[in-house]
Amino acid sequence: MAFESLADRLQATMKKIRGKGKVSEADVKQMAREVRLALLEADVNFKVVKSFVKRIQERAVGQDVLKSLTPGQQVIKVVQEELTELMGGEQTRLNLALKPPTVILFVGLQGAGKTTSAAKLANYIRKMHNKKPLMIAADIYRPAAIKQLQTLGSQLSIPVFSLGDQINPVEIVRQGLEQASADHNDLVMIDTAGRLHVDDALMDELEQIKAVSHPDEIFLVVDAMTGQDAVNVANTFNERLDLTGVIMTKLDGDTRGGAALSIRSVTGKPIKFVGMGEKMDALEPFHPDRMASRILGMGDVLSLIEKAQASVDEERAKEMEQKLRSVSFTLDDFLEQIGQIRKMGPLQDLLSMMPGAGKLKGMKNMQIDEKKIDQVEAMIRSMTPLEKNDPEVINASRKKRIALGSGTSIADVNRLLKQFKDMKKMMKQFMGKTKGKKRGNPFN
Ligand code: GDP
Repeated sequence: MAFESLADRLQATMKKIRGKGKVSEADVKQMAREVRLALLEADVNFKVVKSFVKRIQERAVGQDVLKSLTPGQQVIKVVQEELTELMGGEQTRLNLALKPPTVILFVGLQGAGKTTSAAKLANYIRKMHNKKPLMIAADIYRPAAIKQLQTLGSQLSIPVFSLGDQINPVEIVRQGLEQASADHNDLVMIDTAGRLHVDDALMDELEQIKAVSHPDEIFLVVDAMTGQDAVNVANTFNERLDLTGVIMTKLDGDTRGGAALSIRSVTGKPIKFVGMGEKMDALEPFHPDRMASRILGMGDVLSLIEKAQASVDEERAKEMEQKLRSVSFTLDDFLEQIGQIRKMGPLQDLLSMMPGAGKLKGMKNMQIDEKKIDQVEAMIRSMTPLEKNDPEVINASRKKRIALGSGTSIADVNRLLKQFKDMKKMMKQFMGKTKGKKRGNPFN
C-alpha cells in the first residue's frame, strides 16, 4: 500500500495520544516532533512539514482541545483535518466545458504515466458523463508512444487521431481538433511528449499546443514514486503552463508519500485523480479527507461502501439480508458472500480502508489469510447440498471426505463448522435483541 511506513509511524504516534485522559502541552510537543520526523522521512518537502507541524501544534494546544473531555481524540481530529487541508481540502471536481468539446491536455515527464492516464481518464469520463472521446497522439518523440495510445484506444474502443511522427505536434493537435469537431467528439484528450528532464524546447512546444487547443484542464501527470523531486518538476510546469490540476500515478506502489503530501501546498494545484494500477479502470478521483483518514488508520469507509456498491448486486443483497434476519443463512450463502467480498479487490486493499485495520496490519500475514479463505471455499465446495443446508449432518466420515476433497484436514473442517455455528448463534442473539426492542416488528 502507498504511504505504508508513513501510516505506520503516524498511527503509532496517534495511538499514544488517543487514550489519554489528559493531554499536556509537553505531550503535544512530543507528538509534533514525531509527526515532523515521520513526514520528513516520507520525503515531504521540509517547508511544508515545518508549517504543517506549526499549525497542528498551535491548534492542538488551543484551550478547547486540551480542556475537552476527550483531548486525545480531539488532537487526532486536528491532525486529520490538517492532513486533509494539506492535500487540498475539498475534493476538486473535473472542469467540463459548457460548450463542447472539453479539451484535456496531459503533460509531464517521460514515464510518468501520461499516455496511460489519458486513456484511463477518457474511459472514466465517458462512463461517468456519457461523453464521446477522441484521443490525440501528439508525442512524436518517444518511439512507442503513438502505438501505445492506439493500442489502448482499440482496447477501449476510443478513436485515436495520429499523423505519425513526422509532423509538428502543434499541427497534429490543430488537425485533431478539426477531426473531433467533424466527428462530434465532445471530449478530446491530448497526449503530449515528455522528456527525461524539463527543458525549454518542450515547454515552448507545450505552450503552443495550449494556445491552439484552449484546454479546459491541463493535468500534470506525476509519478508518486519520484518523491519530492516531483514537486520541483510541478513548479516548472506550473510556471509555464498554469496547470489546472495533477494526476498522481502509481499510488498502488509502495510510495513514501512525499509527492502527494507536498504538491498541493507548493504549487497550489490540487490532485484531481490518482492512478492505482496499470489496468484501465485503475483511476480514482482523489478525496483528500478519505486519504487523510486512511493514513491515520481511521479507515476509508466511504470508499469501501462505493466499492461494495459497484460490485454487489442489490437484489441479491436484499435477499441475503432477509436470510440473515430469518437466520436461514446456509454455508452456500456464506460461500456467495465470500465471492462478493473478493470481487471488491485484494483483501489487503480492503483492509487498509477499514477503521482500525492498522492494528492487524502489523501481523503482515494477509497472504496466509487469503490462502485460508481459499481453503474455506474449497471445503464448502466439497460438501453435498444436504451438508451445506444442514451442517448438523456432517459426521466423522463426512468430515473425512470433505477434508480429502478440499485438500484440508479434519481439524480445518471442524474449525469452519464451529465458526459457522458460532456465527449463526450470534446472528440469532442479535436478531432476538432487535426483535425484542422493536416489539416483534424488526422491519420498521
Ligand atoms: P508516459 O511516458 O508519461 O506516457 O508514461 P506511460 O503512460 O507510458 O506509463 C509508464 C509506465 O507506468 C507504464 O508501464 C504504465 O503501465 C505504468 N503506469 C502508469 N500509471 C500507473 C499506475 O497508476 N500504477 C502503476 N502500477 N503503473 C502505472
